Amino acid sequence: MKALPGTLYIVSAPSGAGKTSLVKALLDALPEVRVSVSHTTRAMRPGEIDGVNYHFVDVAAFQALLEHGDFLEHAEVFGNYYGTSQRQLEQTLAEGHDLILEIDWQGAQQVRHKMPHAQSIFILPPSQSALRQRLTNRGQDSHEVIERRMQEAVSEMSHYIEYDYLIINDDFAAALEDLKSIFRARQLRLDRQLRRHDDLLEDLLAQRS
Ligand code: 5GP
Repeated sequence: MKALPGTLYIVSAPSGAGKTSLVKALLDALPEVRVSVSHTTRAMRPGEIDGVNYHFVDVAAFQALLEHGDFLEHAEVFGNYYGTSQRQLEQTLAEGHDLILEIDWQGAQQVRHKMPHAQSIFILPPSQSALRQRLTNRGQDSHEVIERRMQEAVSEMSHYIEYDYLIINDDFAAALEDLKSIFRARQLRLDRQLRRHDDLLEDLLAQRS
């Protein structure tokens, strides 16, 4: 695959670590960053909007997209299917935007394999008890679902070692600053600055008598 101007970021976390809130706050702070909208077969939760949080599809539609080769990656998580549209991703990166994929460790492995320049970030909670508290506070799932998600969370967290960056979300504002600094540092890299400031650089080096 040819090099694309924007940087691709993978952000993973166990359910309840605050990933979605952190990414939302990051997008508010850095408006040039985009987030990919995945396809999923899971049921819509209260407050979610089709086409904004996810593209909600049934299993048949998901299979059709999969067979058509539309997904850069896909995985089964908590008994539902999730996938990232390849076309949407390529378009956004080609426009020069940084793009975030909020995906699980299985999807992250597939993306790293296909797009080795992707930067991956793992967000961890400060403790297991804080994680349980956050899953309980959410109030959208039954006790059994929460217990199952705790087990799944521990399993998801065991993959932190595969990521480039690690953020501990103890204090939200501090975790957001950590996240922003990763994006800012990449935006200051020479290749990006060359594109952004090509007129200035040309002007600064012009010989004037
Ligand atoms: P939720 O259903 O709570 O929104 O997400 C459940 C899990 O699925 C989270 O770990 C989330 O990161 C992951 N997920 C969401 N979209 C995708 C996707 O497109 N691909 C993969 N592999 N995982 C996803």
